[in-house]
Amino acid sequence: MLWRFGYFLAWQLAGGAFGWWLEGPWGAVLGAAVAAWLWFGGDLWRGARVLRWLRSGDLSATPSTFGMWGEAADRARRLLRQHQAQVKQSEDRLQEILAALQATPNGIVLLDAEGHIEWCNQIAAAQFGFDAQRDVMQFIGNLVRDPDFSAYYASQNYIHDMVLCGRDSTPSRPVRISVHLHPYGDGRKLLLSRDVTALEQADAMRRDFVANVSHEIRTPLTVLTGFVETLQTLPLDAGERARYLAMMAQQAARMQNVVHDLLTLSRLEGSPLPGMSEWTPVQALMQRCEDEGRALSAVLTQNHHRRHVLQFPDAQDLRAEGEIAGVPSELQSVLSNLISNAVRYTPAGGTITVQWRHTPDGKAIFSVSDTGPGIAPEHIPRITERFYRVDRSRSRETGGTGLGLAIVKHAVQRHGAKLDIASEVGKGSVFSVTFPANRLRRPALPDGLQSTALAQTALR
Ligand code: ADP
Repeated sequence: MLWRFGYFLAWQLAGGAFGWWLEGPWGAVLGAAVAAWLWFGGDLWRGARVLRWLRSGDLSATPSTFGMWGEAADRARRLLRQHQAQVKQSEDRLQEILAALQATPNGIVLLDAEGHIEWCNQIAAAQFGFDAQRDVMQFIGNLVRDPDFSAYYASQNYIHDMVLCGRDSTPSRPVRISVHLHPYGDGRKLLLSRDVTALEQADAMRRDFVANVSHEIRTPLTVLTGFVETLQTLPLDAGERARYLAMMAQQAARMQNVVHDLLTLSRLEGSPLPGMSEWTPVQALMQRCEDEGRALSAVLTQNHHRRHVLQFPDAQDLRAEGEIAGVPSELQSVLSNLISNAVRYTPAGGTITVQWRHTPDGKAIFSVSDTGPGIAPEHIPRITERFYRVDRSRSRETGGTGLGLAIVKHAVQRHGAKLDIASEVGKGSVFSVTFPANRLRRPALPDGLQSTALAQTALR
C-alpha cells in the first residue's frame, strides 16, 4: 500500500516538476493534476482488466500487470488454481467411489429425501429396468411398481429387507430380488438390492430334499412298524411269521439302500477332487460290474421263464484297455449304477449291452444300452436330479432309491468325464460316459500290433 502511495506521489512530483519547468508555479499545479488523472486512468484500466479476467474465470488468460492489481490478479490466480486442484481431487475421488460402487455385485440406488433417484449402478439398473442416465431424478415409486415395494417404502420401517420379482422374471424362470432401504443423511436413502434367486432355489431344493428323504425313510418305516405290531399282537404260525419277517427284511433293506446312497452322495460332495495317483485296471472294474449285473438279473428274472441277454466285453480285450485314474469306489459306482438301472428297467427277455471302447483322441467311452421301456425326452434332463423317477413303482419294486443317477452324475463330473443319455420310448436307452484321455493309461503294444490296433480303432 505504501509503495502504491509512493508511486502516486512520484507521478505527482514528476507532473509538477514538468509543469514547473514549462510554466512556473501554475504549470506545476496543472502538471500535478494531469499526472494524478493519468495515474488514476492507468489504475482504473488495470483494475478493469483484472475484473474482466476474474469474470471470465479463464485461468490461462491471466492479465500481466503490475502493482496492487498485478498482485491481486496473481493471488486470485493462485487461489483459483488451488481450488481447481481441490475440485479435481474431489472429482477423482468421487469417480473412484462410483467405480467401486459399480463393481459391487449388488445393486445400489441413491435416493434423495423425496425418493428421487440421484444415482444408481448398472446392476440396479439391470435388476429394476432403470436407465442409469434417463431415470435420474425420477421418483422410485414410479419405476418400481410392485405394491409390496410401495408399502415397504411408505412404511418407514426398514429394519428388514423385502423380496420382490425382478424385471426379467417369468413364471418358468423366476428372478427374485431382495431390496433393503437404509436411511442416511438428511432424509436420504440408500437402496441395496441383491439377486437371491439362486439362494431361494437352493433353499427350496434343501426343503424338497429333506421332505423327500423323510418320505423315503418314513414309508418303509411305517410298513415295518405295521409288521412289528402284527407280529406282537397276532398269534401267527411259523410259515406266516417267516413271510412277515421276509417282508420286514425287504423294507429294512430299502431303508438301508436309501441311507447308503445318501451317504455316498454326501461323501461325493464333501471329498476333494479325485487325483491322478490311483490307477485301477479297467478289466477289474468291468469284471465286478459284470458279476453284479448278472447276479441282479438272476434275482429279478427268477420268476420269469425268460432271462435277460447280457453282453459284456471280452476280458482279454479289456486287459488291453489298461488303467483308469480316479477314486476306484466312485468309478465302480458309476459303472455299476448304470448297469443296475439297465437290468432293473429292462423286462425279462430284453438285451443289455455293455461296451468299453477308446476313441482315436485317447478318450474312453463306457456305454450301457438296453432294450427297456426308454425314457420320454421331457424326463431326460431331470432324471439325474435326486429322487426324480419316471417309473416310480418299477424303481421301488427293484430296490431303487431315486439317487443312482444323481450319484453317477456327481462322480462323473468329479472325474472330468461326461454323461450322455440317448433314449427312445418303447425302444430302449443308451447311457454313456466319456472319460478324458488324461485319466487313461493303456499298455504299450509291440510296433506291429500298434498299427493294427490304430486301424481297428479308426474303423470302429
Ligand atoms: P432309481 O433308483 O429310481 O433307479 P435313478 O436315479 O437310478 O433312480 O434313476 C432315475 C430314474 O430314471 C428311474 O427312476 C427311472 O425312471 C429312470 N431310468 C434310469 N435308468 C433307466 C433305464 N435304463 N431305462 C429306463 N428308465 C431309466
